[in-house]
Order: sequence, then structure tokens, then C-alpha cells
Amino acid sequence: MKNHPKNRWQDSVAKTLDPVARLVYRSNLIGEDPTLTNTGGGNTSSKITEKDPLTHQDAEVLWVKGSGGDLRTAKRDGFSSLYMEKLKGLQKNYLGSKTKGPKTQIEDDMVGAYAHCTFNLNPRPSSIDTPLHGFVPARHVDHTHPNAAISLAACAKGKELTKEIYGDEVIWTEWQRPGFDLGLILEKLCKDHPKAKGAIMGQHGLINWHEDDKKCYELTLELVGRAAEAIEKKDRGEKTFGGEKYKSPGEKERKALWLSILPWLRGKVSSQQRMIGTVQENATILRFVNSKDAPRLAEMGTSCPDHFLRTKIKPLYVPWDPATGDVAKLRSLLQEGLEAYRADYKKYYEKCKRKDSPAMRDPNPTVVLIPGLGMVAWGKSKSESRVTAEFYNCAVEVMRGAEALDGYINLPQQEAFDIEYWQLEEAKLRRMPPEQELARQVIAVVGAGSGIGKETAHRLAKEGASIVCVDLNEKAAQETSAELVKKLGEGIGVAGRGISGCGPAIGLGANIVDRKSVAEMLGEAVYAYGGIDGVVVTAGIFVPPDLEGRIPDEKWAQTFAINVTGSYVVADEANKIFKAQGLPASLVLTTSVNAVVAKKGSLAYDTSKAAANHLVRELAIELSPLVRVNAVAPATVVQGSAMFPRDRVMASLAKYKIPFSEKEGDEELRTRLAEFYAKRTLTQSPITPADQAEAAFLLVSGKRFPRTTGQVIHVDGGLADGFLR
Ligand SMILES: [Zn+2]
Repeated sequence: MKNHPKNRWQDSVAKTLDPVARLVYRSNLIGEDPTLTNTGGGNTSSKITEKDPLTHQDAEVLWVKGSGGDLRTAKRDGFSSLYMEKLKGLQKNYLGSKTKGPKTQIEDDMVGAYAHCTFNLNPRPSSIDTPLHGFVPARHVDHTHPNAAISLAACAKGKELTKEIYGDEVIWTEWQRPGFDLGLILEKLCKDHPKAKGAIMGQHGLINWHEDDKKCYELTLELVGRAAEAIEKKDRGEKTFGGEKYKSPGEKERKALWLSILPWLRGKVSSQQRMIGTVQENATILRFVNSKDAPRLAEMGTSCPDHFLRTKIKPLYVPWDPATGDVAKLRSLLQEGLEAYRADYKKYYEKCKRKDSPAMRDPNPTVVLIPGLGMVAWGKSKSESRVTAEFYNCAVEVMRGAEALDGYINLPQQEAFDIEYWQLEEAKLRRMPPEQELARQVIAVVGAGSGIGKETAHRLAKEGASIVCVDLNEKAAQETSAELVKKLGEGIGVAGRGISGCGPAIGLGANIVDRKSVAEMLGEAVYAYGGIDGVVVTAGIFVPPDLEGRIPDEKWAQTFAINVTGSYVVADEANKIFKAQGLPASLVLTTSVNAVVAKKGSLAYDTSKAAANHLVRELAIELSPLVRVNAVAPATVVQGSAMFPRDRVMASLAKYKIPFSEKEGDEELRTRLAEFYAKRTLTQSPITPADQAEAAFLLVSGKRFPRTTGQVIHVDGGLADGFLR
């Protein structure tokens, strides 16, 4: 049955595992199934008898998924371990406090006390849900956020429906913010209903328990399955969300529409800080945004507490009619919608804030819904925006279920606010390491398949940028992007249509002398990330001359086409995106020291690079004040360069009368030539791709030389002949 979770437990695997590893195994099985829980949501536990490292006596230890991470990817180190006796002992402190109950100071203080219950110096901080697991007496506990169960939890008649579906096996509990007190409520529930197997936690999720771990997992599946079946029975089919109001244009037109508004929209939602986007336009999302009820339901916002921090209290929905295809109208609706949204958010903050609430955060929406097109979600990184999109996908499923069963109700605003602006959440945000220098930036590196370009892609990714690796050789571009993703990880969050579901880097092919190819490449980058903040062009060509130092006319034309026109075309196309975004941007070209040194033997290359130097200056004027344009001018970078194939290396060695043997390997020959070049420089050291990448990073970053534009920086080891004057 659709949405019915599948049992994936394998005894042959489980029996090889120790009790903690079995918990990790069970957790991953749950986390990998999107019908059971969302990224970062839910937690699992086992109470396990361990040897105390000091007394060597048996101790009851609660292993429970800790703070941070998620069930899908959690390993053993993602779980905290606490002495049961000490954890239970905290009840005395809590109950002894004069003021207690949800949202009291003692509740938040208890979180600090969990560290004192740690077994065996486990450094993983305990989650806020630890008492839920500790105070339910059963040995194994699963707490999940399944869309089907939350549908039930987010119904006006949730309590009655729970009884109808589960009888006395699952008990309803009213919404309450997670914490120590909720643990006590669950403990009492287990005492009052000794036969109960679980509870639906109002507007939150599901919790269930068992003495056996496999049976606990199977129970989770069964309970979620029963909720899913109840929903399917009442599924409204065509009438879902009140039925269809708008029709989506075809795939191609949809994409063209997305591309025509994304950079502009990104500029608007980045009015306080830059955001990275994820586009979602699958059938489920399209059915929702195209429906009659979408405006009413969107206004009600999401219902699962761990969603608010990313999706905000509600999305921005604009009532655009896709049948008109009127982009100008869409823009004006978005503009009005954004202004109203920000004002509304401020109102919500002012109305709900408490004496000690943290300052108001960015009032821009993180989820934007457009009839006909779908959804774009925004976050501080690609991974975060994917999580945001995933959470709103979940919210749509929850609303579908709740509307089918009965009617969807949202969490009261104050409750949502008390989660969004919880002091404990604020403390978590403050503990996060400062953002990297290029965080929130999307930078395309054209020529990323090899040499300086590849090195630059790695250098910029290390500073936190999302990287669009571009090369004439698409496979090479994809190899570089795969290296980056491997190094940095995909991140979390399962969402995004096609390339928009990407990680921190993508690889694309483009021919920079072909404007259409460049425009298509930039379009893919925009669809993947929402926009672009910088472009570094390292692509270039050196055609080796014949013995007289000449090259054929068509090669001359090709040299100018790639080294001058190509950079111009990339700049011109990228500038359309920069202008639409209205955010400061940066362009870094690659010229050469040869541009200013007149000599024999490379007439076409040298004059093309001289033209490129002037292109930098002209573009700096043309694209100001929004875009800074600078260039790096390398000299004789031999290592890893596609411009120094074996033939050219040997020709150069012969030209400088440096002895070599044809039997020597490529690297040996290159090293010999690089050492010769190094000796000609003032710093007497070889010039590497890493030196060039460093300069490209300094110029592209808006923080290092924010007031430098129209400049060419030589990275040549110091060549007096190349001094600019
Ligand atoms: Zn939860």
C-alpha cells in the first residue's frame, strides 16, 4: 500500500551486532524511510546493561540519539549514554523546584543536568527528548515524525480519531513543548495505561515502545501503517485540497519561468543575508500549489515543531495565475507578497515575544509557493535549503492527511514562537562555529576540469562556497565536482528537483565561445542554487607555434576567441544574473604576464592576453558599481597545466638548451622546466596552481579587496620584465 512503510529488518545482520550497534542499525532503518521520519527529526533509545568503568558493577545505561545529526546517518557517536539511575534521580530536583512545568526555568536547567548523568565520558550532548526515552519504562523506545501520524496529530478531532484507529493501544497526549515535563507525562501515561504500546503526541508525532528491539521497530511500522491506511481510506482523490484551481505549464516552460524569476527572487529574499535555493516541482508539490485550498492552508503554516526553525511560521504563497504566463505580474505579486510577509513576521514577533526573547531574526520567507511552478526553499547553504524543502514537502503530506481525515489545524502562534525563539535553540545557534568566508556564495569556476581551475575550485570550496565546476570537457568538470562533494559531503535534507537536489558542487560542460552554451550552463547553475555570486574564468588556450613562431590564421582566430571573446561572453551572460539579483558580485579573469612582455615566439597568445588585460578594465567600468572585475596574471605555471602538454615541455626544454631524454616521464620533464623558470624569477621559486588559486580566492571574495576593481595581479614569482608601469 502507498505510504505504508516496508519492513527492512534483517535478522542475519542484527544478530552480528552488539546491543548499541543494534540500536544504531534500528535507527538507520527508521531514518532511511521518509514515511517514518524527516531529516533531523525523531530519536530512538535502548536501555542496556553495561559494566561501569570504575566500579566494574553492572549499570543500567540509556543509549539515546543525542543532540544534532539525524537517524538516517547517525553512527554510534551520535548517541549519548546516561546512567538511568542518575537520570531518574533528576526527577527529585525537578519536582522539588517551586516553579515547574512546561516552559519554566527549571525545565531548561534540566538540559544542563543531563551532562552530569553521562556514562563513560561519552561526549555526545543529550537531546531535549532524553526524558521521553528515560521515563518510559520499556527497554526500547522509538520517537518518530511520520507524515501519516502527524496528520492524525494535526487534526481538530485528533483525540477521537486516535481512539478510532488504535483503540486502547495508542493513547492521545495534548501538544506540549518537548522537555522534562513531557517525559513525566509519558511516564504517567505508561502507569495509567499499562497495556498501551505508544502515544500520538498532539501536533508533534508518534512515540512507541517494546521490550524487544526488533518488535519495537515493527511496532513503529505497524502504527504508522495504520495511520496511513486510515488516511488512504478517506483520500479525497481529485478533491484533495479542494480540487485543482490552476494548471501547470509543461516541464520546459516551467523551467524557463523559474529561470526568469529565480535570480531576482534570490536578491529579494537575501535582503538581510544571502540565501541558497532549492527548487521542488514534483507532482505532490504541484498539486498543492495549484489547489483551491493552498492559500488557506499555506497561511496556517507547518505543524511539526522541528520545522519552524527552517520553514518559518508559514510560507509565502502568491496567487499568480500560470495560464497568463505574465512574468511581470508574477514579479509584482512576489514583491507585494514579500513586503506583506516581512510586515506580518514583525507583527508575529512583536505579539509573541517575551522579556528575554532573542532579537528578531531575518523576516524574509524561506519557502515560496507559486501556482503552476511549485516551490523554492531557501537556506544558508545548499544542504540547509534542501532540508527546508524537505520539511515543507512533509508539511504538504501532513496537510493532505489531516484534511482527508478531518481538518488540518495549526499550532497556536505563541507555541510556534516559543519553539522558534527558545533560549535553548538560541544557545545552539550561538554555539555554531562562525560562518566561513564564502558561505552563502555560489561561484562558477570556468576551466575547473584541470590545472589552475581545478585548484581554484578546491580553494573556494574550502572557504564554504557552493561551486559550479565548468569545463569544455564536461566529464572533467564532473570529476572535479565529485572530488569536492566527496571531500565536503552531500549534507543532509532529501529534496530538490533534478540538479536542484545537488550537493555543495556540480559539474557542467560549456563552450565559452558559444553564447547559447554559456547561457544554458548559467541557467543550470541558477536552477541548482538559485543564483550566482561570482565567476572565475581560468579557461584559456596556447597554440604552440611552428619553428618560425607562426600559427595558422584559424588558430590565431581561435586563440582570440577563447582568450578574449570567451571571457567577454561569460562576463556578459553572468552580468544578466548579477543585475537581476542586485547583490554585489565579483568576476575574476585569467590573463598572463605575457600580456605586457613583448617577445618572440608567441604572438597570438601574447596579444590575446594583452586584449584580455584591457577587457578587465573595460568590464570593470561597464559592470560597476555592482560587480568588481579583476584578473590574475600567471606566468609559466607548468605543474598540472593543460597548457603544457609533453610536446610543449620538450619544445621549451630544447629552446632553452636544457638537456633531457625522451625516455623521461611527463612529471620529470615538467619539473625540470619549472625549475628553470623558477631561476628566472626574483623569488627563485616555482609557480604553482595553488599560488594562482590563492590570488583568485582573494580577488573573488568580497571581503579581502572589496574596493579593488579593474586590476590585474601578477602571480609570476617576480618577473622584472613584466612589471606594470
Ligand atoms: Zn519529536
